[in-house]
Amino acid sequence: MPLDQGKAPFALPKLPYADDALAPVVSAHTISFHHAKHHKAYIDNLNNLITGTPYADLTLGEIIKKSAKDEKAKGIFNNAAQSWNHDFYWHSMSPKGGTPTGKIKSMVDDSFGSLADFQKAFKAAAVGQFGSGWAWLVEKNGKLAIETTSNADTPLAHGGKPLLVADVWEHAYYLDFQNRRPDHIQAWLEKLCNWSFAEENLG
Ligand code: MN
Repeated sequence: MPLDQGKAPFALPKLPYADDALAPVVSAHTISFHHAKHHKAYIDNLNNLITGTPYADLTLGEIIKKSAKDEKAKGIFNNAAQSWNHDFYWHSMSPKGGTPTGKIKSMVDDSFGSLADFQKAFKAAAVGQFGSGWAWLVEKNGKLAIETTSNADTPLAHGGKPLLVADVWEHAYYLDFQNRRPDHIQAWLEKLCNWSFAEENLG
């Protein structure tokens, strides 16, 4: 896992590439706001919210799982899950992404028929997620599957095994694609989708 499993205060993780490495699909302009403003705000909010609470002694993964079951900790859950989801998202993209090879390619073919079939299904799920949320590739019983979550929700909170994620909040694509989420997702799948990271997450 890319995420620092240390405890609070949490720091904004560094991007695994330069700000302009994912252009033109995700511009340096988008990355700079998304990472340095949005992602940082989730981390700062989380650090503030857990100070002086039992959550301050837990790792980020533990905070997500515990707060998911705590009606009084919605703010903690939202900011913890968004902190984790964004770190996972940065690693789900690569300037050399797009085409799976080896074991993960076999799994794509086995689970979806072909890469094109996977891309079609993932795009439909990402576009069909109403409002803000995330589109995930997960592993379930040795097969690959697609899931979506709303707002901050994450498979990690429900015992799922995420392999890749696309951020479908408007802030992820609006500066580059405006309202054209389908075009953003198509380009994301073809150019950025980091299959090596997905394979690493199979464990
Ligand atoms: Mn985001």
